[in-house]
Amino acid sequence: MTNLTPVLEKPNDQTLAEINAKLAGFGPQQMLEWAIREFSPDLTLACSFGGVSGMVLLDMAVRIDPAIKVFYLDTGFLFPETYALEKEIEQRYGIKPRPYHPDLTPDEQAERFGPELWRTNPDQCCALRKVKPNRQALEGMQAWIAGLRRDQSTTRRQIQPVLWDNKFNLYKINPLWNWTEEMVWIYLKAEEVPYNKLHEQGYPSLGCTNCTKPVAAGEDLRAGRWNGSNKTECGLHY
Ligand code: SF4
Repeated sequence: MTNLTPVLEKPNDQTLAEINAKLAGFGPQQMLEWAIREFSPDLTLACSFGGVSGMVLLDMAVRIDPAIKVFYLDTGFLFPETYALEKEIEQRYGIKPRPYHPDLTPDEQAERFGPELWRTNPDQCCALRKVKPNRQALEGMQAWIAGLRRDQSTTRRQIQPVLWDNKFNLYKINPLWNWTEEMVWIYLKAEEVPYNKLHEQGYPSLGCTNCTKPVAAGEDLRAGRWNGSNKTECGLHY
C-alpha cells in the first residue's frame, strides 16, 4: 500500500519538542482548541465507538467546533452495541460521523484469503479492514485526533501530546495522553456522554467481534484485544 502524500512538511525534532513543551501544559479542551485553530478544516477525529476516550474527545470537540470531521472504521465486524452507539451519537449531537469500509466484504475476503483471516493472519486482516480504510480517511488531512492514553497498555506508555505520524504522514494529536481511565469516566458521567454498553460487561476496549474478549480484573485495558495471540495493536498507531 502506498503512503499518503504529506500535506505539511514533516517537522524536525526540535519543532516537535517545542510544540509538545507548549501543549504539555494544556488540558484536553485547550489542546483541541489549538488543533482546530492550527489545522481545520484539514483535521479529523477518529472515534471507534468502542472505547471511552473517543467518546470524551468527540463530546469535547463537537462543543468547540460542531462542524469538526469525525470518522470511524466500519470493518464489517463491529458489535451491534457499537453500531447502536454511533446512531445514538448522530441523534444526540446532530452530526454524521463518516464510516470508512474495507474494499472486500467479509465473504469476499474469505473467498480470496481463506476463512477466518483474523485467525490465520490477523495483521493482514487488520491491514485490509482497518489500515487501508484509515489511510483513506486521512487523505488530504494535516492532522488527526486520536484517543491514545499512556495508561491504556505497556505499548502506549511513551505517548506524547503531539507526534508526527510516520505511517500516515501527518500530525497525530492525543489530547488525553496523560488522562487516566478514572478521569475519563468522571468526565463521561458528569457530562452524560453516551458510551458503549459493553463497557459495563467487562469490555473496556472494543474492536471487532472476532478479536475482542472481556478483560479480567487487574489486566491491561487492552488485554482483551487479540487475546491468545502476540498481537496487541491493529497497525493504526504502531
Ligand atoms: S481486529 Fe480482527 S477482525 Fe478486525 S480487522 Fe483486525 S484481525 Fe480483522
